[in-house]
Amino acid sequence: MVKRCVVQFCGNSCYTGHSVHLFPKDPATRRQWVRFVQSKRENFDPPSEKSSAVICEAHFEKDCFTNSFMRDMGFKSKKELKPGAVPTIHPIPTEDQLAKQGSKRLPDVGGGLSAKRPRQSRASAKLEVARVRKHTILIIVTFTGLFNWSINFCEYFT
Ligand SMILES: [Zn+2]
Repeated sequence: MVKRCVVQFCGNSCYTGHSVHLFPKDPATRRQWVRFVQSKRENFDPPSEKSSAVICEAHFEKDCFTNSFMRDMGFKSKKELKPGAVPTIHPIPTEDQLAKQGSKRLPDVGGGLSAKRPRQSRASAKLEVARVRKHTILIIVTFTGLFNWSINFCEYFT
C-alpha cells in the first residue's frame, strides 16, 4: 500500500522520493499532528493507532530531523524525526487545487451530516464577501441615482 501524505494539497509519498512519517504514538504529539492536518482539512479524522496515515518530510522544519546533516552530506539515510517533532509547514496550493476544492465544497454547504465546522469555512466566507460587495454596489447606485435626481431638480428650477 502506498503511504501518501495526508496533508491538504500535498500528494507526496515514498514513491515521489520523500520520506514519510507515521503519526507518533505519544498522545500529545499525535494530537498536534492531527490538529496540523485539520487546520486545512476540517473533515480529517484522527487516524487509529494501527492506521498507516503518514505526513511527509515537507511539513517539518529542518531541525525536526536527527540526521539531516548526514543527508545534506550526500549520505543516503532515512530521515528520522526527533521525538516530539510537530509538522508546521503547509504546502502552497496551486490554482487548480483551489478550484477543485471550491467545487468539492459547494454541494455540502448547508448539508447536515458534516456539520462539525468549528470555524467559518472558506466557501461561506467568500459568500459573505460577495454579499457585502453587493450591498456596497447597491448603496453606490442609490446615491448616484439620488445625486442625478437632485441635479435634474436644480436644473428644473434654474
Ligand atoms: Zn506532505
